[in-house]
Amino acid sequence: AERTLVLVKPDAVGRSLIGEVLVRIERKGLRVVALEMRTATTEVAAQHYAEHQGKPFYDGLLQFITSAPLVAAVVEGPRAITAFRQLAGGTDPVEKAATGSIRGDFGLETQLNLVHGSDSPESAAREIALWFPSL
Ligand code: ATP
Repeated sequence: AERTLVLVKPDAVGRSLIGEVLVRIERKGLRVVALEMRTATTEVAAQHYAEHQGKPFYDGLLQFITSAPLVAAVVEGPRAITAFRQLAGGTDPVEKAATGSIRGDFGLETQLNLVHGSDSPESAAREIALWFPSL
């Protein structure tokens, strides 16, 4: 089965939406195979978002993602990468995420869009190695 790296970002943790996100993952039929709450270091955050370095939102994004605890998880199942991105909805919670998705149901701002999910098998492998080096 395929694996994807999911982050329940600090905004969602602060709003007590960890359970809400995990319920949707499990209800879909995906399986949580690793789960940990932690505050991301700047080093891990910078590696995670390396592709966005130099973009106007990059500094704010790193500040935000390291500002408070998040929940990192490895989620497994058939087509887990695409399945979770469907659950999450588009990056902009108002313009792109459909109602019924996590971002569409709970988000208003692009930076505070509640969750992250790997966007390709290559990203998933890289991100799982970064967040869960022992897996
Ligand atoms: P993620 O990688 O977190 O799953 P994504 O793949 O939907 O999100 P990306 O384009 O990779 O979106 O952007 C990564 C993250 O950077 C977004 O989830 C969001 O938190 C933040 N971000 C992206 N674009 C903007 C923007 N224009 N303004 C503020 N924050 C942004």
